[in-house]
Amino acid sequence: MPRPILATIHASALRHNLERVRQCVPDAKLWAVVKANAYGHGVEHVFESLRAADGFALLDLDEARRLRELGWRGPILLLEGVFEPRDLEICSRLSLWHSVHCDEQIDWLAAHKTQVGHRVFLKMNSGMNRLGFTPGRFRAAWARLNALPQVEEISFMTHFSDADAHESVPSMDLQLAQFHEATRDLPGERSVGNSAALLRRGGEAGVRCDWMRPGIVLYGSSPDFPRHSSAQWDLEPTMTLSSRIIGVQELAPGQTVGYGSLFRAETPMRLGTVACGYADGYPRHCGTDTPVLVDGQRTRTLGRVSMDMLAVDLTPVPGAGLGSEVTLWGRAGNGAVLPIDEVAQAGGTLGYELMCAVAPRVKKVVAL
Ligand SMILES: *Cc1c(COP(=O)(O)O)cnc(C)c1O
Repeated sequence: MPRPILATIHASALRHNLERVRQCVPDAKLWAVVKANAYGHGVEHVFESLRAADGFALLDLDEARRLRELGWRGPILLLEGVFEPRDLEICSRLSLWHSVHCDEQIDWLAAHKTQVGHRVFLKMNSGMNRLGFTPGRFRAAWARLNALPQVEEISFMTHFSDADAHESVPSMDLQLAQFHEATRDLPGERSVGNSAALLRRGGEAGVRCDWMRPGIVLYGSSPDFPRHSSAQWDLEPTMTLSSRIIGVQELAPGQTVGYGSLFRAETPMRLGTVACGYADGYPRHCGTDTPVLVDGQRTRTLGRVSMDMLAVDLTPVPGAGLGSEVTLWGRAGNGAVLPIDEVAQAGGTLGYELMCAVAPRVKKVVAL
């Protein structure tokens, strides 16, 4: 028998979450963001469920090639654009749209020999200061691109730094205003929002534009947890990380658990040792009291996570023992849900990071 840890990808949940996004912005086209191997789910595991999107957005040329091999003939957008001139040949061959965020990328396009007209998203740095042309340099970049015979269509994008902020912050309104001001009379489609912008402000005319770029929302994690939970946004978990109890220990008062003896029993108690550790992608930063489900009942972890194992408190589940189902996050066999966001919070991080970090040694299966 293989080691019992498993990541189950829920096709119906992916479809549900995509439908939720459609309801929020019914008139917009959607780039389903599948970067980082579909946020750790596997591009090939989400493709069928998300193919009702209008396009796929990602970063890696290799992932773009895999999507084409899966049979996707619609738009694919490279969110970071090309990394070197010869990437443009792959864009021509696979018909990839790409963002243009710096002058060098325009130089490369100008030198690129192609019969295929390129579709590009000119990217504005509206304050995140990661990629893009500042508002002051944006029009000059557009004019250069617009003069190139290699370019068939120019669209415009920016990315907000604070769409997920806990309070409504002025920076998003400022960034939005800058973007619309600098692109005001330029012809072309616009794309501004990620998941947080879409869920929270998708109803506003300036936010809801031609293309939205939902990522995390498709995977059922709340972009602004704990302000809103995934249940409050009506999202379903798309990944369940599950394993089993492979050992049981009875603790007497005063006995400790795991490396560093960080947990000490105060009363007699039973614990289960679970086949899941940080080498599977479970965060080592999750200390005692991280929520976990055993046989679909909520309980907690005990002590330090080790490379291949962690310990869970069996007090609330006296019937559990060797072989019992453990749900690290996602949906248990009895239907109970443990949101990935709660586990992430216990480890001081986000659902995003946990999904992306599931290790290659964890087998993935798609449940229909
Ligand atoms: C990752 C990314 C997104 C999606 O962000 P989510 O918060 O996951 O919705 C959208 N746009 C760009 C440019 C991105 O890099």
